Amino acid sequence: MDYADLHIHTSASDGLLSPQEVVQWAQKKRLRAIGITDHDTISGINPAIESNERPDKLEIIPGIELNTEYYGKEIHMLGYYIDYKDQWFLKILKRMQESRYNRAVTMIEKLNALGIDIELKQVEEISKGSSIGRPHIARAMVEKGYIDSMVDAFDKYIGVGCPAYVERFKLTTREAIEIIEKAGGISVLAHPGLINDKKSISSILSLGVKGIEVLHPKHDQDMVRYLLALAKERKLFITGGTDCHGIMQNGQPIMGNISIDYNKVIELKKYAGIEE
Ligand code: AMP
Ligand code: ZN
Ligand code: FE
Ligand code: FE
Repeated sequence: MDYADLHIHTSASDGLLSPQEVVQWAQKKRLRAIGITDHDTISGINPAIESNERPDKLEIIPGIELNTEYYGKEIHMLGYYIDYKDQWFLKILKRMQESRYNRAVTMIEKLNALGIDIELKQVEEISKGSSIGRPHIARAMVEKGYIDSMVDAFDKYIGVGCPAYVERFKLTTREAIEIIEKAGGISVLAHPGLINDKKSISSILSLGVKGIEVLHPKHDQDMVRYLLALAKERKLFITGGTDCHGIMQNGQPIMGNISIDYNKVIELKKYAGIEE
């Protein structure tokens, strides 16, 4: 049977592996398809496709994970088969990148005022210029020896409510769904298990989401069963993946450790109107 891991981050957002390395690992792990789903950016997609030497074997699905806000909760919306060359769509993403950049500048100023001497240049080198976020700032702080681990950075400095935390612009969940659909993509609610509130899950689905991420490392068996039933009831596409950020475990990334049947990809593809 062929398998797909539909939730993977690259260094275009906060993943540690470059798009090329992601492709190499996916080939090594004999996956049939992978979804490149970086936070708020598509800039990992082209490099991944270009480095895929065996397009007959490994299929690269263009995707995105939009970070949104739903009544104060952080909700992630996946989009699959988006037209990642659509100018209107790219303009929206560009605006989000700019807002992330400006916010990073403010956060670094706040850290500097607290005696944490990190520079924008260092953070940009870590983020490799795209979709700059708190994890990159945290890594810069670890590199400079101000803290022992990234978790410390969030606990003491850049977590919500901490002295150097700065809010960033977020789309509403409804806007994200509309943007994904308008860009020709299929909207899928990411890791609903993390929402931890069945009423919210249900009302988000009612916004017109087309699919639901059933398999995810943070979902236990009960959650998977619950989400499968929900998908059936509401006639939603089912997706799944590792949410791989390239962290190594026993010398390997977790990519492919959770995967879904390739038939689910065929269903998505058909709906998106992609030729076999
Ligand atoms: P940003 O989008 O820049 O606000 O950063 C959000 C990202 O930071 C999330 O996707 C997580 O990867 C990471 N993150 C958020 N909170 C924590 C935390 N307490 N510990 C470690 N990483 C976190
Ligand atoms: Zn991430
Ligand atoms: Fe997520
Ligand atoms: Fe993710």
